[in-house]
Amino acid sequence: MIECKNVGKVYRRGVVAIRDMSFTIEEGEFVYLLGASGSGKSTLLKTLYRDEAISSGTVMIDERDISKIKVRDLHKLRRDIGIIFQEYHLLPKKTVYENVRFALEILAFPEEEMDARIRQTLTLVELADKADCYPEELSGGQQQRVAIARALINEPRILLADEPTGNLDPRASMEIFRLLMRINRRGTTVLLATHDQHIFQRFHFRSLTMSGDSWLLMNQKKQ
Ligand code: ATP
Ligand code: MG
Repeated sequence: MIECKNVGKVYRRGVVAIRDMSFTIEEGEFVYLLGASGSGKSTLLKTLYRDEAISSGTVMIDERDISKIKVRDLHKLRRDIGIIFQEYHLLPKKTVYENVRFALEILAFPEEEMDARIRQTLTLVELADKADCYPEELSGGQQQRVAIARALINEPRILLADEPTGNLDPRASMEIFRLLMRINRRGTTVLLATHDQHIFQRFHFRSLTMSGDSWLLMNQKKQ
């Protein structure tokens, strides 16, 4: 469970990115984060990953106050959370397989289990047949799926996806969205930040919460 209470984030020079946000996300929910450019979507996802510190309020993940986690223990939080940054970077001279493997190396994953885990994750994101390709040989949607595979490699309980359909055509966007829905059905809580109206219009979200300035959180309970 993710609980944000009166969360605020002020960057240097007084830029207010998040103003007094409070919400609760239950385990297994699919949450859609909609907001105008600059409304703080990326900032919120980064604070949940402790990539950015909050300026006020509290963020609890599974009853842990994440602001209190010591730097040396951050890997424990991040073990449970996969993040797809809005600006992700694929290693250009490495294959899809190696790009995904890289994410496991960072996590000091047991060497002997790596291959099976990589193959399994590439299958999940439907890239098994592209394992030996280089990023420049992939379409935008396929590159995005490599980034998703990296975020999923550690079987996180929470997936934070920041504009994973950015720059994709409607059809490729929809495929990514369906993939995220499938991941959610497997039990992963998904937070999707996007201003992709196309996705928004195609699906029905059950509840609507407004918080802060321009935030909408739409939750769809796991079915
Ligand atoms: P977009 O839809 O364009 O991705 P967003 O909703 O993700 O926008 P953020 O990237 O979270 O918005 O930015 C929120 C505000 O914080 C903006 O005013 C932005 O300029 C500012 N901001 C973001 N990152 C930083 C930073 N590292 N330092 C200073 N200000 C920042
Ligand atoms: Mg953003």
